[in-house]
Amino acid sequence: MNSENRTRCVVAGGGPAGMMGGYLLARAGVDVIVLEKHADFFRDFRGDTIHPSTLELMYELGLLDEFLKLPHQELREIRGIFNGHPVPIADFSRLPTHCKFIAFMPQWDFLNFLAEKAKRFPSFVLRMEHEVVDLLFDNDRVVGVRAKTPNGEREIRADLVIGADGRHAVTHERANLEIQEYGAPIDALWMRLSKRASDPPRSLGFFQHGKLLVLLERGDYFQVGFVIPKGGLDEIKKRGLSELHREIVRLGPFLQDRIGELDDWEKIKLLTVQINRLKKWCREGLLCIGDNAHAMSPAGGVGINLALQDAVATANLLAAKLRDRAVTVAELEEVQKRREWPTRLIQGMQSFVHRRVVTGRESRTGDKVPFPLRLFLWFPFLRALPARLIGLGPRPEHIRSPDASMRR
Ligand SMILES: Cc1cc2nc3c(=O)[nH]c(=O)nc-3n(C[C@H](O)[C@H](O)[C@H](O)COP(=O)(O)OP(=O)(O)OC[C@H]3O[C@@H](n4cnc5c(N)ncnc54)[C@H](O)[C@@H]3O)c2cc1C
Repeated sequence: MNSENRTRCVVAGGGPAGMMGGYLLARAGVDVIVLEKHADFFRDFRGDTIHPSTLELMYELGLLDEFLKLPHQELREIRGIFNGHPVPIADFSRLPTHCKFIAFMPQWDFLNFLAEKAKRFPSFVLRMEHEVVDLLFDNDRVVGVRAKTPNGEREIRADLVIGADGRHAVTHERANLEIQEYGAPIDALWMRLSKRASDPPRSLGFFQHGKLLVLLERGDYFQVGFVIPKGGLDEIKKRGLSELHREIVRLGPFLQDRIGELDDWEKIKLLTVQINRLKKWCREGLLCIGDNAHAMSPAGGVGINLALQDAVATANLLAAKLRDRAVTVAELEEVQKRREWPTRLIQGMQSFVHRRVVTGRESRTGDKVPFPLRLFLWFPFLRALPARLIGLGPRPEHIRSPDASMRR
């Protein structure tokens, strides 16, 4: 039934949620077409974290050994430098998973890997440069999408549209799904600085007096994130590039010898941070998952994990049914019921971190470590809690969706 114009399930967006959802549905024998608007997965703004829970999913799918052959770094403990003091925050060594670390891997490698593996399934189709621009309706039911392609617009009809098109989703907007904004007091500046052999060996986060600098290693350069107050870019521009250089170097003094590489505002991108959630994640014929259903802040680096967990829950709850028939709206609602409270919990924690550690009173504690973080120094056993929340997330999902090759 997977013709180019008609399929069982069409997935809008080939990010973590869309690619994992597409992979698992096709593995179960469901006809699925994933549409990604870009020509490839190479983009700087993507997070790089593959969590222990995701590595456990790879293990359950029999892909772990091959996956870990891709270049990556292993982070077994999270330490931040707070006002000059190193603070261990999360220790993954006791997690009940095969991999007791976060793998740092460029997200394009992860997505390419999933795409390659998915292409082995006969019912999987991936179409790049296909941008979903509208939904198709039959009365109140969503019955497909309209996509812009290099060869003009085309319509694809499907029994189910999965909206995995991220924070600025067309799918939830066209479906008129109501969104609740929870606000985030920060934005992030995103840029590149070259890396030297003498640099500290792993990805680092530096906090000082409410300022936060994150460095992600990517081969011969760092992807640099610098947190600023929401809407504060104009003010920063007024103060000038050299003041921004000074602020960055104050947090990461070893960057002094290359900060001049940022010699033009064009090299500095603004990423707006949002926390929001759809009231209803679905309507007849449409299910929204990942950042589309709940935009996440980068705090804790957990958005990718949550998006993947949504995809696994979707396949667990719907794949066997979708193989034989269209699913009802009540069945789609089961996905929201399962994934909503873990999302609420994590978003609540992200708001707390924004308020207390990054921007609030606690961030201006002179040269001291903010109070909530001092608890990790006094009571090391407390580090197990963030390790679980960051490494596994609340209610970690496991692969329960069928494997069509076993049936054959
Ligand atoms: C600055 C910043 C840094 C972050 N860092 C991290 C981190 O280190 N770790 C972490 O876990 N999380 C991080 N996050 C959060 C994380 O990026 C998201 O939570 C996660 O990417 C959500 O995955 P997704 O698949 O739902 O959406 P996305 O990753 O946004 O993927 C959506 C996909 O859909 C495609 N698309 C969009 N619109 C259309 C359309 N109309 N038609 C077809 N395709 C479309 C996009 O090109 C994209 O490929 C960060 C967020 C920000 C803002």
